[in-house]
Amino acid sequence: MIDKLQWVRDELNSLHQQGLYNNIRTIDSAQGAWLTVDGKHVLNFCSNNYLGLANDERLRKVAQTAIDRYGVGPAAVRTIAGTLTLHQKLEERLAKFKGVAATISFQSGFSANLGTVAGLVSKEDVIFSDELNHASIIDGCRLSGARIIRYGHNDAQSLEDQIKQAGAYHRALVITDGVFSMDGDIAPLPQLVQVAESHNLLLMVDDAHGEGVLGRGGRGIVDHFGLHGHVDIEVGTLSKAFGVVGGYVAASTEIVEWLRQRGRPFLFSSAVTAADAAACLAAVDILEASTERVDKLWENTRYFKQEMKRLGFDTGRSETPITPVMLGEAELAQQFSRRLFDNGVFAMSIGFPTVARGKARIRVMISASHERVDLDRGLEAFARVGKELGVLRAA
Ligand SMILES: *Cc1c(COP(=O)(O)O)cnc(C)c1O
Repeated sequence: MIDKLQWVRDELNSLHQQGLYNNIRTIDSAQGAWLTVDGKHVLNFCSNNYLGLANDERLRKVAQTAIDRYGVGPAAVRTIAGTLTLHQKLEERLAKFKGVAATISFQSGFSANLGTVAGLVSKEDVIFSDELNHASIIDGCRLSGARIIRYGHNDAQSLEDQIKQAGAYHRALVITDGVFSMDGDIAPLPQLVQVAESHNLLLMVDDAHGEGVLGRGGRGIVDHFGLHGHVDIEVGTLSKAFGVVGGYVAASTEIVEWLRQRGRPFLFSSAVTAADAAACLAAVDILEASTERVDKLWENTRYFKQEMKRLGFDTGRSETPITPVMLGEAELAQQFSRRLFDNGVFAMSIGFPTVARGKARIRVMISASHERVDLDRGLEAFARVGKELGVLRAA
């Protein structure tokens, strides 16, 4: 008899051998600059808690109050009995914050992408997608059934060429990440807008790593480039800089209304909880009240990158707090990450399939929750391990 599961064991072994097996570390503390990871107190260089809001006292308080008033579970999807006044309020406040007509919230950025792409295009349609777009965009594209045409990364000319060569289609959608999550580079939105507008195509930007990071007070990539009114659909996440969980789409009233009717995760998966929505509202309050956290995030980013370059590390093409430390082979990146951990620094390695083979790296995520001494502590560990593993020349 054939063992039905032998292939799974073979695949898992192969992952181990290639250094591509994800060893999942467990956290036993609140989010912040320091964490307890696998029982060890370590400097946190890998969470998306850009503004330090994940354990903010105000967010915790309003979440607790919401639980006391509404309980813990949503008990329904948004279209049946799951829409609380809190969800509506959050959507209104996000629209104001972003300077758009309307927003619709989802359970995550991932489900926002799935629901939005599949809600806007289908079989006779075509999607022009940056070749390095996030997995959730790729899955949304596949789910839609539309023809997918990839264009060169951050290359508006390549987009233009692909549009001209595409042949006949019904509707079309251009999609790009705003900030690319593995390299930290920013989409050339003004040029993409120009191409999309000249061909009268819908343009969608997934700004998961730009929300709370780019633009005035963290209003995102559209604000960063002053392109209000020129991007049809912005997808954002509430799980990164906002410090909570959830996703949303910022768009015209028509598109938002349509997604309330046809965005499948909105119709068929339960809403985020009252505590989540309340905490997100408090995050919007904090972002609207002051740019202090966003400013500190950028100050930390500039300092850390400048010092890493001074040490001799290759931090790739990042223009944002995402700081890839390019190492090449996956085994080396994994070993580097383990040695950092031994030196009290939590920074995960990233390899195939998240990034291309041979482009493995440690991805450092800078946060406003870091103090200068924390960053110095991290730099020291990078220098030590870099020399030990021959990535940096010993002085
Ligand atoms: C993180 C991320 C998402 C998913 O957001 P979640 O809220 O965690 O589901 C989507 N797109 C991009 C580009 C991301 O980096």
